Amino acid sequence: MDFSWTEEQRLWRQTVRDFAQKEIAPRVREIDTEERIPPEIIKGMAELGLLGPVCSEEYGGAGMDWTLATIAAEELGRADISLAIPVLYLVEAAWGFIFDRYGTPELKAQILPKVTAGEAFLGIATTEPEGGSDILGACRTKAERQGDEWVINGEKVYISGVRESLNMGGIHLLLARTNPDPAAGHRAFTFFALPLRGTPGITPTFFQDMGRMGISTGGFAMEDVRLPASHQVGDLNRGFYHAMEGFSAARVLIGATCVGAAEAVLEMGMEHIKQRRAFGRPLASYEGISFPLANHYANLESTRLLVYKAAWIMDQKYGPGTHTHQDIALAAALAKLRAPQIGFEIMNEVADWFGAMAYTKECPVEMGIRGIRSYSIGAEGTMNIMRLIIARELLGPEFLPYRQ
Ligand SMILES: Cc1cc2nc3c(=O)[nH]c(=O)nc-3n(C[C@H](O)[C@H](O)[C@H](O)COP(=O)(O)OP(=O)(O)OC[C@H]3O[C@@H](n4cnc5c(N)ncnc54)[C@H](O)[C@@H]3O)c2cc1C
Repeated sequence: MDFSWTEEQRLWRQTVRDFAQKEIAPRVREIDTEERIPPEIIKGMAELGLLGPVCSEEYGGAGMDWTLATIAAEELGRADISLAIPVLYLVEAAWGFIFDRYGTPELKAQILPKVTAGEAFLGIATTEPEGGSDILGACRTKAERQGDEWVINGEKVYISGVRESLNMGGIHLLLARTNPDPAAGHRAFTFFALPLRGTPGITPTFFQDMGRMGISTGGFAMEDVRLPASHQVGDLNRGFYHAMEGFSAARVLIGATCVGAAEAVLEMGMEHIKQRRAFGRPLASYEGISFPLANHYANLESTRLLVYKAAWIMDQKYGPGTHTHQDIALAAALAKLRAPQIGFEIMNEVADWFGAMAYTKECPVEMGIRGIRSYSIGAEGTMNIMRLIIARELLGPEFLPYRQ
């Protein structure tokens, strides 16, 4: 076992940190207020290989491993504590990887170079009005084959990047039911690459979010949407499995961005408690302040280890190792359960240290609190769904209240 970073990993962290601290960190309040990511930041990310980092170089990706991609996620979280840019990064990283792995060469050549250049958006659309956790039970969107086309009807909600996709072009990976037989279980769904812009039959909707304001959340209804056969992503009726693979990848990167953002906020808090005096002494000298700091730091460090262990398992699976999907699902669920929760607790505590200022927009911590909550509430799976995966791996699927 070796906990040290390689020279390549150290240099990569420094490169992303230099970029993110210079180009992103000073503009986070602007991103939060104007509710958009400035195009020059997207261009800079593309130049560094931060859009579709794990995608093949053939399509403009950086061909990185998951550990390097996780380092970048942590650094982007440190710079943008509102977590809007990290969302752009990780959604495209994880789902771009799935599209690269399972999309048709024809469509990949059309879409991926634009995504990796920052000229198109690539997102994920599984959640429906009936629910996001129980995809199996809630997915009403249907795709029917008619000749060389798929005809799709249904609705997706709470989808990241709907506005970006409409403005820039690109695709959302859409999960739709392709086998009406209720006995088909998980083998009833297929993934499709759905361009929202310019596709007849799409009616978009938008939500006003609590946080991570730089990236939109919306939905779209689909009425007789027609897609060519080449837009099928992966095997027929294997979409559920492709989705689970993408969720695991996204959850590892989410863990890293939450660790990065929480660490940045903890550092802001430490600076403040060293400077701010009450009753004649710095706040930092009171154990009522420094002991919680020590606890939070211990939680943060242990969460970081979980995150990088998960990244390492990803590299074993997709590299030379022998890890199974189960190992990845468990490691990713542990990272996704701990990081948003620990990150939120840290930010909440630091807000207390700042006193009244924390309740104003003078203090950046409120952007972090609003942003990180998206991940415990639901984005890429709720806390209880992470617990459910962990329990399933520990106890076996026969102890779930239903077959998973
Ligand atoms: C900011 C944001 C961005 C998002 N972006 C996307 C996106 O890009 N694409 C996409 O497809 N979706 C996206 N989502 C949706 C997300 O995937 C869903 O919110 C999530 O899957 C939960 O679904 P739900 O909101 O319908 O809650 P529900 O599934 O209705 O769950 C409600 C509550 O019940 C709990 N619960 C459900 N089942 C169980 C159980 N068996 N045991 C115990 N508790 C249970 C859940 O943990 C949760 O607390 C996003 C969500 C947010 C908040």
